[in-house]
Amino acid sequence: MAAHPVILPDGQATLGVMGGGQLGRMFVQAAQQMGYRTAVLEPDAASPAGWVAHEHVRTGYEDVIGLTALANVSAAITTEFENVPAASLRQLATHRPVAPAGDAVAVCQDRATEKAHFVASGVPCAPHARIGSEADLAGVDTALLLPGILKTSRMGYDGKGQRRVRDAAELAQAWSALGRVPCLLEKMLPLAAELSVVVARGADGQCVHLPVQRNLHRDGILAVTTVPAEGIPAATQAAAIDSAGRIAAELAYVGVLCIEFFVLADGSLVANEMAPRPHNSGHHSIDSCDVSQFDLQVRTLAGLPLVAPRLHSATVMLNLLGDLWFDAAGRERAPDWSGVLALPGTHLHLYGKTEVRRARKMGHLTITAPTPEAARTVALQAAAVLG
Ligand code: ADP
Ligand code: MG
Repeated sequence: MAAHPVILPDGQATLGVMGGGQLGRMFVQAAQQMGYRTAVLEPDAASPAGWVAHEHVRTGYEDVIGLTALANVSAAITTEFENVPAASLRQLATHRPVAPAGDAVAVCQDRATEKAHFVASGVPCAPHARIGSEADLAGVDTALLLPGILKTSRMGYDGKGQRRVRDAAELAQAWSALGRVPCLLEKMLPLAAELSVVVARGADGQCVHLPVQRNLHRDGILAVTTVPAEGIPAATQAAAIDSAGRIAAELAYVGVLCIEFFVLADGSLVANEMAPRPHNSGHHSIDSCDVSQFDLQVRTLAGLPLVAPRLHSATVMLNLLGDLWFDAAGRERAPDWSGVLALPGTHLHLYGKTEVRRARKMGHLTITAPTPEAARTVALQAAAVLG
């Protein structure tokens, strides 16, 4: 693997990214602000990152010619989605520094290896079992694991590929409904709150983190992130940060990594899943912190110094899903951006997606304010304006 040099923004140096979604777009924007050229590999002609990058290599993620083209123009390469083929990252790494590494991304791509990694890092997670055969189904410890959630081991996101199951019969039905692919059955836990921690780890092992984020999901999709994480004891927040750092170190991780945690009804903390990239719950950092998660991604990729981000404003982030583009009667409409932007401390981020679909992440709105109460008040006003 190519060693990890320092890549200075000299007007020529290009940072490459696998994937053309909104995370790639915000990475590209952060890199450009710092003076890098940018290149995106993405098959879709109309992609949020492809629109804004200097170069758009338009091939599939496993296309040898495309990967070679990306490696040729890029001084170093990162990824914006966890389902990037790990083999493609490994192949790129024979030519250029790649962060995160294909091996680390591969661990995050499978819920079973992900959970095993949490255990190896000494971080508690939900009781679980692999379901890949009739024998696995028959062998489930129903007293321990039911009621539970059956999740496809691979490719699940935004609550997709999941079924809640109460008993053995429902479990068998759910596994069939999910196509009898390899799955992980997790015990249903009594959640008091959901948190996430974004860490950035350099090639030298230095690790910094964003403040702990408190997340609210609706229908399995992140809806609201609040920072500071009000109502979460300082000891719990410190434990989450410590666990995230250990998970990253145990992976010998280089880049930005986000760990999702559950706080249970008894106050205990368990890791849920991790993403080998910036995370939706860290988007607030662009506007609320002096160093954002995308700045950190650029710094780790370019071998630049890491500094601990400082939260300078209380913040609430609201995801803007495609549903907002439809009125109660189901007719398409434009959301009232003027009404939202008339409120103090609102930062509108739209991803440039041309096709509106319900439950599709079209953008997000960050509200910054001097106090958590003020941020919450404006967030409620913004939600009312958006209807
Ligand atoms: P995704 O990859 O879709 O984000 P997650 O594993 O994070 O999948 O699950 C989505 C949401 O479902 C979580 O944020 C949480 O609200 C809920 N959830 C997932 N696993 C459990 C569990 N074991 N117990 C209770 N709720 C859960
Ligand atoms: Mg999740």
